Amino acid sequence: MNPNDKSTDRRDFLQQSILGTAGAGLAIASTSHVEAATSPEAKAPELVDEVDVLVVGGGTAGAIAAIQAGRAGAKTLLLERNAQLGGTMTTGGVAFPGLFDAWGKQVIAGIGWELVKESVELDGGKFPDFAKVPQRHWHNQVHINQFLYALLAEEKCSEAGVKIAYYEFPQSVEKTETGWQVDCVGFGTKRRVVCKQIIDCTGGAEVVGLMGYERLREDERQPGSFLFKLDTAHNPAENQLHRLYVHGADSTNSRTVTEANLTGRKSILAKVRASNQRLMHLQPETGFRESYRIVGETMITVNDYISGRVFDDAISYAFYPVDLHTKSGVKPKPLKPGTVPTIPLSSLIPKGSQNVIVAGRCLSSDRLANSGLRVQASCMGMGQAAGVAAALAAKSGSTPSQVPLASIHDMLREHGAIIPEIA
Ligand SMILES: Cc1cc2nc3c(=O)[nH]c(=O)nc-3n(C[C@H](O)[C@H](O)[C@H](O)COP(=O)(O)OP(=O)(O)OC[C@H]3O[C@@H](n4cnc5c(N)ncnc54)[C@H](O)[C@@H]3O)c2cc1C
Repeated sequence: MNPNDKSTDRRDFLQQSILGTAGAGLAIASTSHVEAATSPEAKAPELVDEVDVLVVGGGTAGAIAAIQAGRAGAKTLLLERNAQLGGTMTTGGVAFPGLFDAWGKQVIAGIGWELVKESVELDGGKFPDFAKVPQRHWHNQVHINQFLYALLAEEKCSEAGVKIAYYEFPQSVEKTETGWQVDCVGFGTKRRVVCKQIIDCTGGAEVVGLMGYERLREDERQPGSFLFKLDTAHNPAENQLHRLYVHGADSTNSRTVTEANLTGRKSILAKVRASNQRLMHLQPETGFRESYRIVGETMITVNDYISGRVFDDAISYAFYPVDLHTKSGVKPKPLKPGTVPTIPLSSLIPKGSQNVIVAGRCLSSDRLANSGLRVQASCMGMGQAAGVAAALAAKSGSTPSQVPLASIHDMLREHGAIIPEIA
């Protein structure tokens, strides 16, 4: 019998409680419900997973982090609260990753690029010419088919030995001698994960929040956007979806996400009625630009970003204009010619923490730096670096900040990533 399978025990337990209560003359249904809800057995998790690396959030950064950790030989579990991989790229519908190139050459590659490239090739799509410096930054963003991307990401997880758990999220996190114990829930599922390292890729650093480390969130956040298509059928990777701002959108919890979705859908319904056009496509969820960011060992400032500071512990490049959306829209501020910002490993590590690292838009950065750093290619670069750091830390029984930087760089290069040149 699988030691994790408690279903037989539970059945026995329920039968016993039903017989016991029937004898006592109580209603079977209500009594067995009360027993099951209050007994210690009902509180114990149904499943137990022991892994090296737990990745929470299978979005833009998280899918890459999990594939990398799996390829590095770490036993990896990926937990995603939604129904598919890709996050804002797929569920949000922003299937337009930028930017893998800067000033005429590719600066971000590795597993993220591998996935994007395969999506484009399988879809018969076109690539921008990275050798050309575009007039507008977005000319070199890549149009991808969001549906294919999600399928390929799943295939690559499976090939890397990554186990995926959809519809689940952590409820509590406790420190252990060798890492963490994380109790997770999904509908009909309770899972305890015992792991050495956690990579928080939830967008808003939700696991870091559960652990009690410091996070930052602005009082007024950039708007989210709901993506849809009116009038003509959506042709993925060929044309962009229509977008409608959802002001105050916040990915912090189920209530704020519900609120954003209700607001966005209501506005789209009003638009359909006013336009007299047919609604041809609607994404399932709002795309969120901003919520919590961690306070890391290093905080990237907008001056670091726009000056292209090369950090001593840089693990990836990033490239995009400073791109802050406000109530009245956005006016991107391009970087000066030749400038390519970098991302330090220490901006992914919550201050004072051990055995946890983040990747994605929640990295430690001030608001303006974050508005440029949060784009998809940069998130993928961070995801891959976090996957390597967590896998090596799990293997050596240390923590990501103690893994020698040269070992992280070596493994990243081995897996196709581009490392900034550190003087
Ligand atoms: C409208 C909009 C337009 C944009 N335009 C562009 C663009 O043109 N090009 C570009 O490159 N970037 C663009 N961006 C920015 C970019 O898409 C995001 O910043 C980036 O995708 C964020 O990646 P992430 O991995 O941090 O988060 P996400 O991709 O959002 O992934 C987070 C994942 O974590 C999951 N999750 C959250 N909480 C939990 C939990 N507690 N347990 C389990 N799972 C959880 C979510 O379901 C999700 O799958 C845009 C963003 C928005 C919103």
